[in-house]
Amino acid sequence: MGTHAREILGMDPTRLIEELNKAFADEWLAYYQYWLGARVVTGPMRGAVEAELNEHAADELRHAEMVAQRILQLGGEPLLSPDQWHSATNCGYDAPSDPEVSVILEQNVKGERCAIDTYLRMLKLVEGKDPVTYNMVLSILQDEIEHEDDLESLLRDLEQRREE
Ligand code: FE
Ligand code: FE
Ligand code: MG
Repeated sequence: MGTHAREILGMDPTRLIEELNKAFADEWLAYYQYWLGARVVTGPMRGAVEAELNEHAADELRHAEMVAQRILQLGGEPLLSPDQWHSATNCGYDAPSDPEVSVILEQNVKGERCAIDTYLRMLKLVEGKDPVTYNMVLSILQDEIEHEDDLESLLRDLEQRREE
């Protein structure tokens, strides 16, 4: 990080880098959960669900890139091995062991709710201290909120289909 950029950071960068690495692990696990879910999902509306899951996978990968860039800018190192993801993660990983469409969607809704809580906590942590991270986290939070809404809409559509 540049000299003056470090001077204006109103908090301990080590603490911030640690939190960002936890989010970095979350994003990779979310990416993998969506990517795999899109490939194994079965049941009604499979095409629409598959497309949404693929879209979200791409968003989570983009989030991982954003978070990694900020970690590097702060002088930190993104987790170097996937072995570290499980101990670092806030939101964990739900294997799509039951490929039924509503089960997959529910698992991902749970993940998005955890992501929303995580980024909201981080937003409060950096508020007034690091506007650059604040801006990034806010933009990711907006995506996670949209993700939850998209998945809930698909679950409602499925429910409606079942009633018909
Ligand atoms: Fe994400
Ligand atoms: Fe998400
Ligand atoms: Mg979407």
